[in-house]
Amino acid sequence: MERSRILPMEHPMDSAALSSAVNQLAETYPILTVSGIGKSILGKEIPVLILGQGKKQLLYVGAHHGMEWITANLLLRFVNEFCEFYDLGRPVYRKNLTDLWQSYTIHVVPMLNPDGIDYAIHGIDPENPLRSRVISMNGGKEDFGRWQANARGVDLNHNYDAGFDEYKKLEKENEIPCGAPTRFSGLAPESEPEVHALCNYIRFHAPLKAVLTLHTQGEEIYWKSHGKTVVGSEAAFRKLSLLCGYPLCEAEDLASYGGLTDWCIETCKIPAATLECGRGTNPLPISDFFPIYLRLREALFSFPTFF
Ligand SMILES: [Zn+2]
Repeated sequence: MERSRILPMEHPMDSAALSSAVNQLAETYPILTVSGIGKSILGKEIPVLILGQGKKQLLYVGAHHGMEWITANLLLRFVNEFCEFYDLGRPVYRKNLTDLWQSYTIHVVPMLNPDGIDYAIHGIDPENPLRSRVISMNGGKEDFGRWQANARGVDLNHNYDAGFDEYKKLEKENEIPCGAPTRFSGLAPESEPEVHALCNYIRFHAPLKAVLTLHTQGEEIYWKSHGKTVVGSEAAFRKLSLLCGYPLCEAEDLASYGGLTDWCIETCKIPAATLECGRGTNPLPISDFFPIYLRLREALFSFPTFF
C-alpha cells in the first residue's frame, strides 16, 4: 500500500511521533535535508529539517514548552506541504517554490523540548531517573498535563542570555522555585542542552535573516524585546501580521526576559518574532490544528520573501 504523502495530523505530536514523521518525510522527499541540532536532557534527538539551498537563511522553531506540542504539528505540516508542492511543481500563494528553494534556506526545528512534550502528553516514565525530583517540582502531582519546562524543570524560553540577571530578581520576587513546571530560568544562560544546541546552531549558521518561534496561545505576535527591534525589520512583521491576522504586541513583565526572540534581537541583532498561535486554554486540543494551520499557512510560506 502506498503511504500518503501528506501525513495525517490527528494526534498530539510526541517525540516518538515526531521521529517517525521525520523519517517518513525523509524517505518520501529526498530533496529534504534532515539533521539534528543536538540532544535533550534525556538523550532524545532534536531534529532540524532544512528546506531550500539559498543564501538567505531563516529559522522556524516550535515546541519550547511541554503543553505546546501543537506547534510541532504545525511546523511539520508546513515542511510536508512545502516538499509536496515543490515536488509537484505547484505554486503556492502565487509563489514558485523552485525560485524560493534557490533563494532561501528555511531551517525548521519543530520540537525543541521533546522531554517536556512527552511529560505533558504521557506523564512521567517510572524508569525516569529524575522522577522523584520532578514530581516534587510538580507539587507532588503525577499529572503533568500542564508541564512547560524541560526534563529537569527549566523553562527553555527563559534560559537564553538576554536579561538573565534582571529576570533572576523577578524570579525571586515572584517566588518561582528552583526547578518548576514553568518559568524557572535555570542556573545560567544556556545551561540547558536544548537551548545551548539551538544557540550554537544559530551562531554556526550566522547571519540568519530572521527567526520565527511558535508558541500557544493568544493570536498575537511579539516582535520586540524591551521596546527594541532590529532596524529595518518592522515592514516584514507588519506584513506577517496582515497575513495571519494576529496583531503585533509587546511582551511585558516575566514574559519579556530570556526568550529566544529576546536573545535574537538583543544579542544577535537578528529580526525575530514569537507567534502565539491559536486561542483558548493550553494545551489547545488537536481539533484546533486545522483552523490554526489554515490561518498561518500563507504567513509561513511568505515570511522568507519579506527578507
Ligand atoms: Zn510557550
